[in-house]
Amino acid sequence: MRTVTAYATPAAKAPFEKTTIERRDVGPNDVLIDIRYAGICHSDIHTARAEWGPATFPLVPGHEIAGVVTEIGPAVTRHAVGDRVGVGCLVDSCRDCEHCQADLEQYCLKGGTGTYNSVGKDGRTTQGGYSTQIVVDEAFVLRIPDDLSLDVAAPLLCAGITMYSPLRHWKAGPGKRVAVVGMGGLGHLGVKIAHALGAEVTVLSQSLSKQEDGLAFGADHYFATSDSVTFKQLRNHFDLILNTVSATLPMARFLGMLRLNGTMVNVGAPPEPLEVPAFALMSMRRSWAGSGIGGIAETQEMLDFCAEHGIGAEIETISGEQIDDAWDRVVSSDVRYRFVIDTATF
Ligand code: NAP
Ligand code: ZN
Repeated sequence: MRTVTAYATPAAKAPFEKTTIERRDVGPNDVLIDIRYAGICHSDIHTARAEWGPATFPLVPGHEIAGVVTEIGPAVTRHAVGDRVGVGCLVDSCRDCEHCQADLEQYCLKGGTGTYNSVGKDGRTTQGGYSTQIVVDEAFVLRIPDDLSLDVAAPLLCAGITMYSPLRHWKAGPGKRVAVVGMGGLGHLGVKIAHALGAEVTVLSQSLSKQEDGLAFGADHYFATSDSVTFKQLRNHFDLILNTVSATLPMARFLGMLRLNGTMVNVGAPPEPLEVPAFALMSMRRSWAGSGIGGIAETQEMLDFCAEHGIGAEIETISGEQIDDAWDRVVSSDVRYRFVIDTATF
């Protein structure tokens, strides 16, 4: 065991405390990573505030991890000491089921092991990236390309792949009209990635306050959903809508913006159920879908794609002591566009 510094929340909605946690010894297939940066995902907040159900405390969140390998187990072949690496939402899966065999570990039939608030194969509760070091099986460790700085790469490990995977699955590209609802952490990366894939990209945000940024990230159009004219103007318009919003929305109005055979993909994960009237789907043979992060191979593909296209997150770097304030700002949609914790401040 190794004792490392971390920021943990002791109970739902309690402020963060600087503390120490134990990391397991480096096993044959493990790598020890010096964490340099950890992104703040809205899922950290949903989990730790027990909005999705009970959580295990004390809880160290963080599944957007970027750092450097400092030690490897004797059987490790994929990574070497000094490598720049990342860890996302998964640190293990059964590796044996149909989905794991198809590089879809995020849909592991036995349930993958989350980076935090999960139980690992050793029976211990996993603890995430708001900490200085982590030990992870090499199969769940990604290479961060040299062209990407670690700080702007960290948010790609969750937010980036969560947008990349559905964009690829539903074939966003030239000739496709793609809308991104909500321009926060996920949304702003969705705009950049969809643009790089060649799609015509529209942002649907609560207001026009971030319009200039959205257009700079590659959006072709930008609309405010506070303006009801938006829904009339864009009726039957999009091939694909990615909904990143962390709260419930009036789904029928958004579904009405899909053209014939269009698909709305929910990646936002509000604690409350979403309501969909059947007629909103039937009228234009529309589909309503969901998507969860991405597999390990696809996450590597996404990192390589982002490096090739110069895509990193727009970040505001904070210290460990600023986590509580940052969380409040995320909840009030006051984020431009991802908070990243610098672990050198711990
Ligand atoms: P975020 O940075 O807070 O972004 C969410 C954005 O949604 C906000 O910036 C805001 O954008 C918009 N929004 C927030 N509240 C709203 C409301 N009441 N009405 C309308 N729009 C609102 O959060 P995130 O980290 O991108 O995560 C977004 C959601 O995705 C969370 O629920 C998170 O748990 C989930 N998530 C899912 C996966 C997955 O695998 N499916 C992975 C990661 C995260 P505007 O100001 O532009 O409107
Ligand atoms: Zn996340």
